[in-house]
Amino acid sequence: MVIAIHGGAGTILRSSMTDELQAQYEQGLNDALEAGYTILKSGGSSLDAVEQAVARLEDFPLFNAGKGSVFNNAGKHEMDASIMNGKDLSAGAVSGVNGIRNPIFLARAVMDHSEHVLLSGKGAEAFAAQQNIATASEDYFYNEFRYQQWQEALKEDRVQMDHSDKKFGTVGAVAMDKTGNLAAATSTGGMTNKKFGRVGDSPLIGAGTYANNHTCAVSCTGHGELFIRAVVAYDISCLMEYKGLSLSEACAIVVHDKLKKIGGEGGLVAVDSKGHIEMPFNSEGMYRASIDADGKKTIKIYKD
Ligand code: ASP
Repeated sequence: MVIAIHGGAGTILRSSMTDELQAQYEQGLNDALEAGYTILKSGGSSLDAVEQAVARLEDFPLFNAGKGSVFNNAGKHEMDASIMNGKDLSAGAVSGVNGIRNPIFLARAVMDHSEHVLLSGKGAEAFAAQQNIATASEDYFYNEFRYQQWQEALKEDRVQMDHSDKKFGTVGAVAMDKTGNLAAATSTGGMTNKKFGRVGDSPLIGAGTYANNHTCAVSCTGHGELFIRAVVAYDISCLMEYKGLSLSEACAIVVHDKLKKIGGEGGLVAVDSKGHIEMPFNSEGMYRASIDADGKKTIKIYKD
């Protein structure tokens, strides 16, 4: 049993962090990690574990997903999420949904109760209503800090990552359960001031999320456009499957070489079929936490 989660990567500097804020982030990571691990310990599936861990991260206002989602150009929250089961490669995803309390629950419903993989916008919201997925009002998603971020981005007409100092606050989780099944899940509010229905890597199976019991489970965070172009999550799986690389070798090539060459800043969490965990990133920091096969817990923000 192992689990690893992230709350986004980027220019996260010690100098711009207070002890109090750091403690809050660590608490948010710890709660989500424990929520997922509790499911694994009681014999639950990796799929349920990553779904619940991501739902907790979505409920935590400091991360850019669910409740803490950034504002788009129209002053709304357009969220993306995806989930994948490594056992049979089934997957579900949603993009550009508004007013859904936990987009990861909707992604799971797409996987379990529709014949599709990816639903978008109004159609996805109609499907949510049919599936009795909880909604929330604009007030629930309102956050003064995010609002000011958006106002600044609006003034300069720029599309920006979660923080003006380039933090990608997307959340995600990967896990391996008692039976060796792998799963991955990712959820995001995307980029501040995004327009034209912009969609990043997070809801795209193979780019931001991928799971295959034969190789690994991966959840990404970073500059979505570059992660789509590098097909990051699937590339890591392919390097393992076709080239016989280890998870750590595959992650090093993709995150520190391939992505870097095209200017793709960010990172990911991954677990392989033997339960090895990797949490690489090429940015200053990444909110991340894990519990390994020996039960050892790690919670980190910066490079060591
Ligand atoms: N990858 C996300 C996106 O481009 C952003 C993030 O990781 O925070 O939508």
